[in-house]
Amino acid sequence: MPELPEVETIARQLRGLVVGRTVSGFRADWHKLTDPEPVALVAARLGGRRIDAVRRRGKLVVFDLDGDEALVVSLRMTGKLLFREAGAPDGDRFVRGTIDFADGSALAFSDTRKFGRMILVDRTEIAPERGPERRLAKAPLHASLGMEPLSRGFTVRWLASFLARRARAAVKPLLLDGRGIAGIGNIYAIEALWRARIHPLRAAGSLRADETIRLQEALRWVLRKGIRFGGSSLSDYVDARGERGRMQREFEVYGRAGEPCSRCGGEIRRTVVGGRGTFHCPRCQRAPRRRS
Ligand SMILES: [Zn+2]
Repeated sequence: MPELPEVETIARQLRGLVVGRTVSGFRADWHKLTDPEPVALVAARLGGRRIDAVRRRGKLVVFDLDGDEALVVSLRMTGKLLFREAGAPDGDRFVRGTIDFADGSALAFSDTRKFGRMILVDRTEIAPERGPERRLAKAPLHASLGMEPLSRGFTVRWLASFLARRARAAVKPLLLDGRGIAGIGNIYAIEALWRARIHPLRAAGSLRADETIRLQEALRWVLRKGIRFGGSSLSDYVDARGERGRMQREFEVYGRAGEPCSRCGGEIRRTVVGGRGTFHCPRCQRAPRRRS
């Protein structure tokens, strides 16, 4: 499942590939791809528009169009954005939608599981990188995304105040909720907590100042490393050129149950936290004391 580093990798590549190109058409054979709008309406609104910028917000790829709109793409589990030069063969049989450009090149959205979405929104609806002013109960994902962890606003002070506001929440599920901190998924949360020597079940409000400092550093470190290695490809993920990432070889604890911890030699354990498979080293990530 693509997280911040994978989506950032795709957005950076696409910046060099599609910015300045003009959309000549949009086709989709999966009617829910543009939900809640019908495909035909999105096609009509996209036609003739120029892509001015490509960026990432949380785990979303955002294509800023000329005018006030943006195309927001959510890759979810298995979505891929694959660029194709003019004359190159059509993509795989899981292509659900294709943006054609006036020069003959195209951008295909391939998605085996069909959870991904491509929606057109008003650019002002996308939450700014520090998060929205206030949370709206049923706001769509792009409007309710929280703090970008690689932005300047993600300071130790901000993180300490965020953890204090959600004091009773377990720290790992809290990191996965994009409405607080955007873009972090299961893998990078696991790796960051190991680096920071914090057990995944610790209550957010129980972190000491030195642990908060370590967590802020660890989150940025693992995310930046993920970007440097082109993201991680455990199953589906490939970038906009169809290449696999290399970060999966760098994991310290993810997928390493039974192996020794590289820091202390303790045996890495797999548990389930908040319904998600989780890995940690019980020796350097001490479990919180059970309430009696
Ligand atoms: Zn250890």
